[in-house]
Amino acid sequence: MDLTTCPECGNAAEIVWRDVLESTDGPTEHAKVVCVDRHWFLMPVASLASPRLPARGGRHVSTDVPGRDAPR
Ligand SMILES: [Zn+2]
Repeated sequence: MDLTTCPECGNAAEIVWRDVLESTDGPTEHAKVVCVDRHWFLMPVASLASPRLPARGGRHVSTDVPGRDAPR
């Protein structure tokens, strides 16, 4: 089973189907993704999120805060 992340809600999603479809840029591998919350998407495999994205601080963190107090 291939897992990815739902582009809509961020929950775990399963890749239930994948195939090469013709597109304007030539054949592109697409995947059907079904999330645990029943969202589903048909999208290019290249656009899928990895389920193992490196954690960016874990929680939602504002990036507007300048973090320059610790000079290196
Ligand atoms: Zn979802």
